Amino acid sequence: MEQKKDIQLIKKNFVTVIAGPCAVESWDQLETIAAHVKEAGLNFMRGGAFKPRTSPYSFQGLEKKGLELLAKVRQKHGLKVVSEVTDAATVEEIADYVDVLQIGTRNMSNFALLKKVGRVANARNLSVILKRGWASTIKEWLLAVEYITQQGNCEVVLCERGIRTFETNTRFTLDLSAVPVIKKLSKLPIIVDPSHAVGQSDLVIPMSRAAVAVGADGIIVETHHKPEKALCDGQQALNPKQLQEMLRQISLIAQIFNKKIR
Ligand code: PEP
Ligand code: MN
Repeated sequence: MEQKKDIQLIKKNFVTVIAGPCAVESWDQLETIAAHVKEAGLNFMRGGAFKPRTSPYSFQGLEKKGLELLAKVRQKHGLKVVSEVTDAATVEEIADYVDVLQIGTRNMSNFALLKKVGRVANARNLSVILKRGWASTIKEWLLAVEYITQQGNCEVVLCERGIRTFETNTRFTLDLSAVPVIKKLSKLPIIVDPSHAVGQSDLVIPMSRAAVAVGADGIIVETHHKPEKALCDGQQALNPKQLQEMLRQISLIAQIFNKKIR
């Protein structure tokens, strides 16, 4: 039998920070960012290999090659890796290379995908992140997550990433009240993605502080060594110095709850 992995994305008394690029672009890019993530004292790295882009003309990700690079960086730096699944047909392939399967906002209601992810994550002992659909209520989100949890008892984590409102100064509106509401309605952990919510790097640090203050169990944030050169979402990526500053600030907020950053 395959050795059970101990992923534990969420740990009691800690705020877990997942950091990394929007998309895997090349070995040099991934390896440089991994070194910064490691130096910052973090354990989890994100990076999309299959990218669900709004425009078919945008960079769609390196796909299998991206997965291979993630596996290589995981091995080299001892980081656990998080990557998105966009299609039920590729869940098993992606599960061969990563520790955490992420379901993005565009797929929250893709129930065939959710069931498949639940089955595969359970069989392989992987963790799952389910992002909130940008036009979904908390109730719909909590029902959607049951398509995954019904398949077994793998670790499943919710992620608030902003919802669509009439406001145009930010990419989406970060609904931070979802965090205490989820705490009241569910036993599942919840993390926050400030990057996709605000869409601009200078707004990511204040919203990360707020996410920790409101009781989030973790944060998933985009970071890039050269944000201006990023193939995807560079405008919202923290550079390595900003990542360090964000971690310094949120560790002060986390002290309110006697929590540490990991
Ligand atoms: C992502 O995290 O890379 C992503 C596409 O996010 P979302 O699904 O929240 O848009
Ligand atoms: Mn992105």
